[in-house]
Amino acid sequence: MKAVQYVEFGKPVEVREIPAPQPGPGQVLLKVTAAGVCHSDIFVMSQPPGTFGSDAPLTLGHEGAGTVAALGDGVTGFEIGDAVVVYGPWGCGSCHACAQGKENYCTRAEELGIRPPGLGAPGALADYVLVDDARHLVPIGDLDPIQTVPLTDAGLTPYHAIKRSLDKLYAGSTAVVLGVGGLGHIGVQLIRALSTAQVIALDVSDDKLELARKSGAHLAIKSDDKAADIVREATNGLGAQVVLDFAGVQPTVDLAVACAGVESDLTIVGIGGGVLPVGFGRVPYECSVSTPYWGSRSELIELIDLARHGAVSAHVEKYALTDAPDVYDRLHHGRINGRAVLIPG
Ligand SMILES: [Zn+2]
Ligand SMILES: [Zn+2]
Repeated sequence: MKAVQYVEFGKPVEVREIPAPQPGPGQVLLKVTAAGVCHSDIFVMSQPPGTFGSDAPLTLGHEGAGTVAALGDGVTGFEIGDAVVVYGPWGCGSCHACAQGKENYCTRAEELGIRPPGLGAPGALADYVLVDDARHLVPIGDLDPIQTVPLTDAGLTPYHAIKRSLDKLYAGSTAVVLGVGGLGHIGVQLIRALSTAQVIALDVSDDKLELARKSGAHLAIKSDDKAADIVREATNGLGAQVVLDFAGVQPTVDLAVACAGVESDLTIVGIGGGVLPVGFGRVPYECSVSTPYWGSRSELIELIDLARHGAVSAHVEKYALTDAPDVYDRLHHGRINGRAVLIPG
């Protein structure tokens, strides 16, 4: 089968021919129908091989959709041909966090060598992907897998980040979204779907500001040195109750704190390496700063339901699986609008 692999540190991805996997006991083999391309793959490839617990070559792709192609011994509850998406942050399934569906915070994953697909385990940017356990599958029925696959990360990550702040997204409050890429544009839709708050989106690119408006932002403004003043003006001088930074680079982290109000939630979602000094006088009074990671199994189920009701819809650029090297290059240079989804031939 074809697989998009990170082969050599600092080199572009390669589309390679590798043997298709077979499901062992408890595992499920999916024929991939769509797989998303994420900025964090570029982060992975900027780290030396071995950093994510698996030596190169590593098949990328932590957003996967497919149909059940084969069931390992003992798997029940799924039939061949069922359409599913993959819950990516795999955990052990039985620790205290996993028992609550929060496998993204599994306390034993590292010790047991459990890695998410595409981030250590072989990922979904291939003709087939092996899923370690049927509990990591969420049925999607007749939803379009191409439109739906970004929800597994580009949707789930903002959904989890927004849910912690729902009590601050009341009528008359403001949410600021920094960075309107794959995650940010779905984040804007989710805030609109889940609350009555005003949404202000900031980005450096005009295309992405346009996408922010289409996604439901009340105000979409250039992320520059005037942006914080515009946010203050739009919030009667108070600042925003919720600030979500989907880039997480130093300029956006600095802007995030400049936009935040008293008793706000400031959530750094992007893994851009920006640092926010937290201390008395450094952030507004009672500003709560958090760095969440991905989301829970139940949240992915909720999100698929939101998609079924039309409340959220990813803006997708479609490519063939073999286009992967070019797609990563475009993503790296900020030339993907919304989410790039690759489709195996
Ligand atoms: Zn990702
Ligand atoms: Zn666990």
